Amino acid sequence: MIIGDYHTHTTYCDGKNTPEEMLLAAIEKGLKYYGFSSHAHLKYDESWNMSHASQEEYIKEVLALKEKYKDKITVLLGCEYDLLSDNDLSKFSYVIGSCHSIIKDGKYLSVDHSEQTFNECVKIAYDGDYYAFVKDYYELIATAAQREEFTFIGHFDLISKFNYGYKYFDEDDQRYEMPMYRALDRLVKAGKTFELNTKLALSDKRTEPLPSTAKWLDALSECGGNIIINSDAHTTSRITDGFDEAKAFASKYGFNSSLILTPNGFEEINF
Ligand SMILES: [Zn+2]
Ligand SMILES: [Zn+2]
Repeated sequence: MIIGDYHTHTTYCDGKNTPEEMLLAAIEKGLKYYGFSSHAHLKYDESWNMSHASQEEYIKEVLALKEKYKDKITVLLGCEYDLLSDNDLSKFSYVIGSCHSIIKDGKYLSVDHSEQTFNECVKIAYDGDYYAFVKDYYELIATAAQREEFTFIGHFDLISKFNYGYKYFDEDDQRYEMPMYRALDRLVKAGKTFELNTKLALSDKRTEPLPSTAKWLDALSECGGNIIINSDAHTTSRITDGFDEAKAFASKYGFNSSLILTPNGFEEINF
């Protein structure tokens, strides 16, 4: 049984469906909890996230839907905050701490916008050195350890999104593994929960799960860390997509439970 999905988008950011359409689909799927997590404002590229004004509209609409459907589902109001975001977080009941971009020598570089942009960033800002980009990415996401407002870490290994088949860099190389494990260690020590993002690890035209996710799942399980499974759905059809595969995948690395989020905080649920 799937209980909750907390990483989801709507037309308030880069999602394709309205909040009500998403919520009705979640009810249809029988979820007990549904979390809205529109992208928080990012001044460097405003094309895929909420403005400060639309954030207020978003909060109003989600709270109205929470009330309207309270007999059918429990709604949680959240947002997906980028480490370079600048919005007020005081009204959210949970916050996903994610890293989609970094600033290098004053230049804004997107990690996940498109494969072409990703390569241009490495060429322009790192003289083609993918490992230097990897190191800066993991150093930035490690700073989430100091952010108490982050409820969990979103798609920890997003930097590997376009590297399937080790197309651009070798993830078994120390230059990949060391920065990743250092970031994981800092986040675990700060008590952070990690998201197993089904869109990144299992979908996106993948025939096999993302290798980098297998690496960190293994390391996280070794040190007794926790995961939360989310879809990162941008359309109604993708809500809870890949959850069964995610449980089977996590089980291979020693997990037999994941966390769900309730209005009173995390609860552990066995697979
Ligand atoms: Zn994201
Ligand atoms: Zn997202």
